[in-house]
Amino acid sequence: MRLDKYLAEVGLGTRSEVKRILKKKQITVDGKCIVDGKKQIEPTEVDVCYAGKPLRYQTYYYYMFNKPQGVLSATVDKAQKTIIELLTPSDQRPDLFPVGRLDKDTTGLMLVTNDGALAHELLAPKKHVAKTYRAKLAGIATEETIATFKAPLTLKNGEVTKPAQLKILSYDHDQAESLVEITITEGKYHQVKRMFAAVGLHVLELKRLKMGTLSLDEKLKAGQYRALTPRELASLK
Ligand code: URA
Repeated sequence: MRLDKYLAEVGLGTRSEVKRILKKKQITVDGKCIVDGKKQIEPTEVDVCYAGKPLRYQTYYYYMFNKPQGVLSATVDKAQKTIIELLTPSDQRPDLFPVGRLDKDTTGLMLVTNDGALAHELLAPKKHVAKTYRAKLAGIATEETIATFKAPLTLKNGEVTKPAQLKILSYDHDQAESLVEITITEGKYHQVKRMFAAVGLHVLELKRLKMGTLSLDEKLKAGQYRALTPRELASLK
């Protein structure tokens, strides 16, 4: 592979930015300063450093976010902050995108990657990947709600959802609020909110806890992220 291509792929910048960095004699290959971007290298067999710091060749990147409220699960937006903008400058790459969508006011687990094939595996309707959310509801969820969700449910607009699992964590009769966990295997627009609306309950807060085998790391505060561990990644594939 050409050195300039390698440098662009590890995220140093565009080809012209890479050219500038090379010209400035900031790149070494196996300890030797290289200025020619056309030099051929074997990415896994050489030590490439930028300003003395080793670069790691990786084609795909996987980050687990705890999405905060008020941030869009999109790559770019003219007016509003997106989850991609929460990445530090050194983790920014033009090809990263969030896997699926969460509403602006939904918090919790969001995977950000540049691996389109994995995103497809997780999002394709046929794959039925389970997603678990914790929801705070206005209204009291009951055994009847659990039973209703176990069967196909007709939403207010006539769409029908697949069975979902509902677990009641707690409820407060005085406040008329419930805390529940719901697991769905589809990704319809506003699905969880619309499912509860169909049974007369209103979602006050929604947080995604799980997607497939991936669980939100509770150590991540809202807005924080980290790379997936090799084990987490292996379990997703
Ligand atoms: N269901 C919703 O209603 N909103 C989300 O953000 C995710 C699932």
